Amino acid sequence: MEAYEKIYRLKELIETKTAADLPGPYKVGVDLGTADVVLVVTDEAGNPVAGSLRWASVVKDGLVVDFRGAMTIVEELKTEVEAIMGVTLDKGATAIPPGTVGRNAAACGHVIAGAGLEPVCQVDEPVAAAKALNISHGIVVDIGGGTTGIAVLRSGELVFTADEPTGGTHVSLVLAGAYKISFEEAELLKRNPAQHRKIMPVIMPVIEKMATVVKDMLAGKEEFADYPVYVVGGTAYLEGFEKEFGTAFGREVHVPPHPLLVTPLGIAMFG
Ligand code: ATP
Repeated sequence: MEAYEKIYRLKELIETKTAADLPGPYKVGVDLGTADVVLVVTDEAGNPVAGSLRWASVVKDGLVVDFRGAMTIVEELKTEVEAIMGVTLDKGATAIPPGTVGRNAAACGHVIAGAGLEPVCQVDEPVAAAKALNISHGIVVDIGGGTTGIAVLRSGELVFTADEPTGGTHVSLVLAGAYKISFEEAELLKRNPAQHRKIMPVIMPVIEKMATVVKDMLAGKEEFADYPVYVVGGTAYLEGFEKEFGTAFGREVHVPPHPLLVTPLGIAMFG
């Protein structure tokens, strides 16, 4: 299956709460994000088998802030996916924003261990995204809820990573302020595609800021000037994001389908 085909398939499996009829052994990935927790199962070849997503606030700026809450959600997602597949899942991979170290880095592993999944591997989030997109050469920008991370790959080798605390949460904060609504209402407004055209002028400065963050990360790295740029993460769902971010960044960028599912799919491929 091609990379984009896998992403579409995963979306369909999550939405229909069904499992693909593919033989094991299976790989499991858990993405503990600022805005959501996603559990994905693939077969050995990285084809999606099943998945589940829960909106949650157990992580802030890439760090686990509600350990028990995170563990409970992973446990519930695991039970749900096991019931869909009719198998028991016993190990899995996790991911962290680049540069996360020490106890903060260890926390994701502890969360999934507490939920009954032996942690087998922990990768940088944009590296997982690159794996899902099957990219061996290029720049992957992962704009999630709380952080913007990048990974640069040259001939299959990871040559640069960086991460900054700017993401979709900041878009929601700006919307909450502009429309005088709560953060939760702003999140729902932002996730409604029918509202994207209307909110774009209000959130443009945040998109420009994200582009500046990435530009600054790559400042002085002329050797990456002609690398293709892929933007993943839920924020890239915004209609017009590809064009506006690209204009502010000064380079053409590509947004794959269902950008929120790319990193979770890639994490499972490391499971
Ligand atoms: P992080 O990696 O920073 O910890 P995360 O893993 O939760 O965060 P993602 O799941 O990639 O990040 O993206 C979540 C963000 O995407 C949230 O800010 C959410 O509001 C936003 N988002 C999700 N769906 C949409 C949508 N349809 N339109 C716009 N924004 C969206």
